[in-house]
Amino acid sequence: MLLQTQRQTVADYGRRLVRAGLTAGTGGNLSVRDAVSGAVAVSPSGMAYEDITAADAVVLSPAGAVLEGARKPTSETALHLAFYAARADVFAVVHTHSPAATALACLRRSLPPMSYLLALTGRDSVPCAPYRDFGSQALAEAAVKTADGGGAVLLASHGLVCVGADMAAAFALAEQVEFCADVYLRCLAAGREPALLTAEEMARARERLGTYGQNRGA
Ligand SMILES: [Zn+2]
Repeated sequence: MLLQTQRQTVADYGRRLVRAGLTAGTGGNLSVRDAVSGAVAVSPSGMAYEDITAADAVVLSPAGAVLEGARKPTSETALHLAFYAARADVFAVVHTHSPAATALACLRRSLPPMSYLLALTGRDSVPCAPYRDFGSQALAEAAVKTADGGGAVLLASHGLVCVGADMAAAFALAEQVEFCADVYLRCLAAGREPALLTAEEMARARERLGTYGQNRGA
C-alpha cells in the first residue's frame, strides 16, 4: 500500500478530530504529504471519521491524480493541494468546521492577537479569507493567499484551515486556534473587546515558543 504511514495518520487524526470536538459529522478533512515522493494522502469524501481506515485514505499526485485508493477523495482536495504547491514548509493540512473558529468566520472577522498562543501560527493573528464556494479552486487560492505563509486561516462562512510541518503540529494548531476563537467570542459576548498583544510581545512569544516565523508547535 502506497504511503501506508501517512494514510494511517489520516485515519488516526480523523478520529481525533471528532473526539477533540473540532468537527461534526463528516465535516472537515485532513491530508499528509510524503516528503520523498511529494504524493499526498487525503481523507475520503463523505465517510464517518470513526469508520475510516488507512486503506480508505486516497493517495494523490501533487497535481491531484489518484495514485491509489478506491474511495473518492475529499471534496476540498483543491484546498489541500494548493497549500502543498505553494508552501515547501507544509507537510500536513487540517481543515475543520470547529464551532468557535467557524462562528468567527461567519462574522467574517480575523482572530486578533488576544493570546500569546496565536504565536504558534507564526503570525500575530489568524486572518479570514473571503467567501468562495466550498470545494472550489477559488477557495483554495483565497485560503493560500490570505494565510500568507502563516499556519492558520479562517474561511469566511465556512471554517478553519491549519497547516504544519507534520500532522501533530497542524492538529495541535487547530486545537489552539479553536480555543483562542472560543475565548475571543466569550470576550465579545461579555460586551468588550479583549486587550491585544503588541507586535513586540507577539514576536517574543514566537521566540519563546520556538516558532521563529514558522508554524511549528512548541
Ligand atoms: Zn469545509
